[in-house]
Amino acid sequence: MRIYDDIQLDYCDVLLRPKRSRLASRSEVEVLREYTFKWCPRSIHATGIIAANMATTGTFEIAREMQKQQLLCALHKHYTAQELIRFLENNQKQTGNNDLLFISSGVSDADYEKISTVLKTGLIYNLCIDVANGYSPYLINYVRKVRAAFPDILIMAGNVVTGDMCEDLILNGADIVKVGIGPGSVCTTRKLTGVGRPQFSTVIECADAAHGVGGMVCADGGCTVPGDVCKSLCAGADFVMLGGMLAGHEESGGELCTKHIQTGELNLLDDKTCAFKIEEKQYKTFYGMSSAFAQEKHYGGMKKYRASEGKVVEIPYRGPIEPTLLAILGGIRSCMTYIGAKRLKDMPKCATFYRVNRQLNTIFGNEL
Ligand code: 5GP
Repeated sequence: MRIYDDIQLDYCDVLLRPKRSRLASRSEVEVLREYTFKWCPRSIHATGIIAANMATTGTFEIAREMQKQQLLCALHKHYTAQELIRFLENNQKQTGNNDLLFISSGVSDADYEKISTVLKTGLIYNLCIDVANGYSPYLINYVRKVRAAFPDILIMAGNVVTGDMCEDLILNGADIVKVGIGPGSVCTTRKLTGVGRPQFSTVIECADAAHGVGGMVCADGGCTVPGDVCKSLCAGADFVMLGGMLAGHEESGGELCTKHIQTGELNLLDDKTCAFKIEEKQYKTFYGMSSAFAQEKHYGGMKKYRASEGKVVEIPYRGPIEPTLLAILGGIRSCMTYIGAKRLKDMPKCATFYRVNRQLNTIFGNEL
């Protein structure tokens, strides 16, 4: 048994140090980046924020909104090949191409058959392969198999949290490695298994390893506010995948429900009686993809040998997603001016972090 003594940090453990810079305004920074890859000969022009391939965030509706801002979306696994093809055909007519979209795959034969059908149409070139435990030999074998069959596609594969495994995946055919085990907002892996690694340290190590062999990383999970996305990009993430921050919107999946909440305010009914005011509030369901709820909904039940590693939450309905996306982009732009980074790609080299033990003053709540 070994113990690593180095302190492992999360986004909440650090803050960025501002720097004197020649950038006078947020309009002087460029948040779009030209991404070129190790294996895939195509390039992508985007800001590397990806909507997670969860059933509630990897939706066609969110995909449309992400693309409007030159952001990306990993469509979830539960669309059929026909549904995907129909959407991709329409999307290509509307936006010119499907370069900002990924289709998703597990590592089963059925997954392979489905993604082969969709990839062979030539409508899409980006594939996200993900399994909860990216250390399983199934993942690397599957990456090899897909790379051999589709040499020109963009492959993102995960999830892992260590540099060695990032290198292995890239050398075996992945362009981007998805990193993060247990940081997700509806993930219970750490509680159930004790396995995981704080996400900020994960990103630093994995980005360094991936870049060393010509690959890239996508930091997946654990961002709660735009500032966390900035920290992730500064830690070296080429892409940042978001679930919870995009959930609960009009375009998100999940059931919308209305609840009647008793407030602390009194209503006078007549001069003798009064009652607490009841407020109507809307909520949307958001759930982890390996929660018992997701297993029931998408696979018709949970297998006996599997345990739930995700939870279900009801989050206050947040309306259209556009303001949320603009807030994230605004946060990135502002961060870039604070640290003097003109290009998105420059963020890590311009970043200096403080290790902190408190980053927010929450006296009036924790809202943005
Ligand atoms: P968030 O942005 O909500 O913090 O994290 C999103 C990420 O959490 C997803 O992209 C995915 O990697 C991970 N995730 C989603 N559902 C589950 C789940 O049920 N269990 C675990 N362990 N991770 C999940």
